[in-house]
Amino acid sequence: MMNSIIFCDFDGTITAEETFVGMLKEFAPEMAAEIMPLLYGREMTLREGVRKMLESIPSRCYPEIIEFSRTKKIRSGFVEFLDFLKTQGVPFVLVSGGVRVMVETVLGDLSSKIDQIYAVDLETSGAYFKVHSEFEADTELVAKVKVMESYPNTEPIAIGDSVTDLNMALAAPIVFARDRLAQYLDEYQKPYIHWNDFCDIQAYLSEHWNLS
Ligand SMILES: [Mg+2]
Repeated sequence: MMNSIIFCDFDGTITAEETFVGMLKEFAPEMAAEIMPLLYGREMTLREGVRKMLESIPSRCYPEIIEFSRTKKIRSGFVEFLDFLKTQGVPFVLVSGGVRVMVETVLGDLSSKIDQIYAVDLETSGAYFKVHSEFEADTELVAKVKVMESYPNTEPIAIGDSVTDLNMALAAPIVFARDRLAQYLDEYQKPYIHWNDFCDIQAYLSEHWNLS
């Protein structure tokens, strides 16, 4: 596990359901219906599409979005996985293409067990949301590969579930993929480990790191 570091997606990965997509469908239904298929079909960049959808939502919806996030469930084995990594001294970095306030609301006290969180920040001073991202680049609003590259001399382990994780997964030597991400990686013939919950990942890494 020398220099290993975990880069983990949030929506549909840490959460059992897609909270960010769910929020966009709820608060920007028309935009989401128009743009979401283009994103999955990779006909529009995440950078453009996610920004368009978020910036179509009135700032007054901010408290409702926090409320919307409160009830979302975390996938099983996550808390145990964080504790496992802590005992192994392996950092856990959360990289989300979604909104920071949603991530922090869902995680609650667990946020303190996470080494770093990268996500999209919302500015709410205008009539509509304004989007800020420290790592906006190329096709992504949160360029996960750029985040990974900001941790040099490490062995990245990527965990994800969908299109926002594709570039990160292609760049990481070890990838845990489920759902759409697994399909995309099949197309790219990039090897990955299939997973369902964090117990699977912990079991695999225990063996990989010769701990069992
Ligand atoms: Mg996801």
